[in-house]
Amino acid sequence: MFEKILIANRGEVALRIQRACRELGIKTVVVHSEADREAKYVKLADESVCIGPPPAAASYLNIPAIISAAEVTDAEAIHPGWGFLAENADFAERVEQSGFVFIGPRAETIRLLGDKVSAKNAMKKAGVPVVPGADGPLPEEGSEAVKIARSIGYPVIIKAAAGGGGRGMRVVHTEAALFTAAQVTRAEAQAAFGNPAVYMEKFLENPRHIEFQVLADKHRNAIHLGERDCSMQRRHQKVIEEAPAVHLNARARFRIAERCAEACRKLGYHGAGTFEFLYQDGEFYFIEINTRLQVEHPVTELITGLDIVQLQIRIAAGEKLPLKQRDVVFRGHAIECRVNAEDPYKFTPSPGRITSLHMPGGPGIRVDSHAYNGYFVPPHYDSLLGKIIAYGDTREQAIARLNIALSETVIEGVKTNVPLHQELLHDAAFLRGGTSIHYLEQKLAKLAREE
Ligand code: ADP
Repeated sequence: MFEKILIANRGEVALRIQRACRELGIKTVVVHSEADREAKYVKLADESVCIGPPPAAASYLNIPAIISAAEVTDAEAIHPGWGFLAENADFAERVEQSGFVFIGPRAETIRLLGDKVSAKNAMKKAGVPVVPGADGPLPEEGSEAVKIARSIGYPVIIKAAAGGGGRGMRVVHTEAALFTAAQVTRAEAQAAFGNPAVYMEKFLENPRHIEFQVLADKHRNAIHLGERDCSMQRRHQKVIEEAPAVHLNARARFRIAERCAEACRKLGYHGAGTFEFLYQDGEFYFIEINTRLQVEHPVTELITGLDIVQLQIRIAAGEKLPLKQRDVVFRGHAIECRVNAEDPYKFTPSPGRITSLHMPGGPGIRVDSHAYNGYFVPPHYDSLLGKIIAYGDTREQAIARLNIALSETVIEGVKTNVPLHQELLHDAAFLRGGTSIHYLEQKLAKLAREE
């Protein structure tokens, strides 16, 4: 096992990784920007290294600074968390070339799966059903794009091959809108991801977002930890997640989960990973793989009793998976609310100092957050303050506990989306379960009209 791990991230995930390391008896080095100097998890780490000024490009995305921090502190492995460099194949490669272990899949795997076009093709080959669409990137030639769209059938969605974070996609309903939509998405993709390639697939009108968690070791063993439902989204970003997903076609779900694990074996994938699908009319359609830890991993941890971050670390150290598929036992139900420092209905970020903070507790409640009383939420990064997660024997019990937890939560000084979560937990459609990815946007639009 490693003696010391460098955490190349910030905020909640930096704290989450640190907790996993401490339990495993591993020392931690946290790198941080000037804006995060005062963060509590930075003080809790065994060592910390300032790697640059607040803008992420100068700090959390500064590969040479991170590598030299690992060198001066004698860290053996680097955990990238999520966001920032977590799915950057060049970073993974540099880490390994510099003599450190990257806690995640091989660089070539990240490269293959990070491009959504090649990921879809790899999945097709591995027998995983994908969203119907073209096999390759969308040609610049307008008439070619028209042909492809006609063969798929409108509406179609144009997506950045290198996309992430819900950005760089555009729905097209008519042929007249196609050319401009392709141009605009290409320009956006170039600006946001440094890669103008886009592709086209069928736009599913009423799907749910269901994703499968996998774990695979360096010895070609792979298991799945079941699925999560992340359909409650705004602007393609997840707001509430739960496990297991209710009202699924049980046979299809079982088959897909097995296929995901099998795909890992075929690809020589190692580490934790998430296969994301859209689910409509009883069928699953692959959209992408995230080759890293997900924000919503705790719901899976709560229903399986496993620590995904510790398992990531043990896999990176070369250990065999300590359990087989039949050893994975699913019990109860878990739901997570992402707590953001933002206006609950306008969604504008709300950075600033937290003047009063009380986080909930009690049976079945888990809080993963780096926030504390007096913490200054910097304006430079995403607004995730943490997550409140509830576990119960049943979905009803998890919802009841989450409601109590949210009613106990006090966060003052910055605005948060807690009121929105409270409203959603009383929403009749949410309570029935199985709402589509468009549900939240439609509800918000309705609320805005009523105002
Ligand atoms: P990102 O990498 O930016 O998260 P994804 O490919 O995972 O992008 O898509 C994010 C979300 O966008 C999905 O969860 C879904 O809500 C929506 N989406 C993506 N592809 C489609 C599609 N073909 N039809 C309908 N919605 C889609």
